[in-house]
Amino acid sequence: MTTVLVVGAGQSGFQAVASLRDRGFDGRVVLVGDEPGVPYQRPPLSKAYLAGTAGLEQLHLRGADFFAEKDIELVEARVRSIDRAARKANFEDGRELDYDFLVLATGARNRTLPVPGANLPGVLTLRTRDDADRLRASLEQAEDVVVAGGGFIGLEFASHAGRPVTIVEAQDRLLNRVATPEISAYFAELHRAAGHTVLLGQGVAALHGDERVREVELSDGTRLPADLVVVAVGVVPETALAEAAGLPVRNGVVVDAHLRTADERIFAIGDCANFPCVQAGAETRLESVQNAVDQARCVAAAITGTAEPYASLPWFWTDQAGAKLQIAGILSGADRTVVAGDPAEGKFSVLSFRDDVLVAVESVNRPADHIAARRLFTAEPKPAYADLEASAFDLKAHLK
Ligand code: FAD
Repeated sequence: MTTVLVVGAGQSGFQAVASLRDRGFDGRVVLVGDEPGVPYQRPPLSKAYLAGTAGLEQLHLRGADFFAEKDIELVEARVRSIDRAARKANFEDGRELDYDFLVLATGARNRTLPVPGANLPGVLTLRTRDDADRLRASLEQAEDVVVAGGGFIGLEFASHAGRPVTIVEAQDRLLNRVATPEISAYFAELHRAAGHTVLLGQGVAALHGDERVREVELSDGTRLPADLVVVAVGVVPETALAEAAGLPVRNGVVVDAHLRTADERIFAIGDCANFPCVQAGAETRLESVQNAVDQARCVAAAITGTAEPYASLPWFWTDQAGAKLQIAGILSGADRTVVAGDPAEGKFSVLSFRDDVLVAVESVNRPADHIAARRLFTAEPKPAYADLEASAFDLKAHLK
């Protein structure tokens, strides 16, 4: 009997095993994860779950009965190493398991702040359910909350923490890595209007305290009072297993267009995988639910005999400061932007072009634009600047 072993029981690992069964795979399916309980989704951790408006059950991707019904073995353990020659995985608890195909779905871990005081009590991060529980409990007692990092996670945390916080961002704009300057400026205003202090161009130089953190020292020497510091400065892909097994690793586990590593029996998907992205025209590692789910489906198809190159359109959403931002496409390499709609009304989209071809659409409270963009990006030819200009950049007018 063919055995598929999926390492990492997060968004992509869960989807891989579910899709294998959906496609009629009747071999042995083992999903190994080092977090307790059934697989859960992370997006609510910085939104409804943090705010206390969603409970544990709403995090779960499926209940325990699903795994029993589908004959999927859900194993709580950490995989320590992979023996590629013997096609065997060794678990930290001493167990080992033979596989025919192995899927690395190990995700990413949070970056830490490389500054003095980073390990003080009261300095927390947000990746797992346990992290979210700790943060919720700390928020109840904290007086002064500082968020280090103005990316998606830091800003969502600020939005759903239920109180004003100070956001410290080393770059000169929020969402620097992931959004256009127009979107950055809009959200900086929204967060300020919501009562948060947004400090741009200021790194965290040190954290000071005694039995817990008391102050955040900024790069210009300013000291902010803080008894809770949330570090949200990005993630590092979890590649240790691949590296130790001699597989190429470069900002993630390197895979080909079919999401296969250099070993044809081993795939990598989700946050841990660096893949040739069709839309970016370059090696890319994405951190999104869409990417995790679609890559898992692609690998399940490959294992069940219908391999297709991975080409799904990247898309993403975030809820913050009372607004919904949805992004379709890939911003890298964009050389021109147009704003459609009126930011003052709180509903607009930023269209980004590369060589006069539409490559990304960021929509704020304009879900119809997002849906239209996703449909346009998956059809040919891709909309050109001149065509869109002729319709006053109304994306819906171009749907066939
Ligand atoms: P993960 O979901 O991280 O799963 C990896 C799992 O593998 C983990 O459980 C890890 O512990 C386990 N693991 C690692 N190594 C081993 C090992 N050796 N043995 C056993 N287990 C191992 N995306 C969006 O599109 N929209 C959002 O609004 C959004 N919000 C988010 C909010 C938060 C707070 C976070 C943290 C992420 C958010 N994301 C969002 C990103 C999205 O959740 C991730 O991209 C997605 O979870 C990636 O799935 P994955 O399976 O690759 O990794």
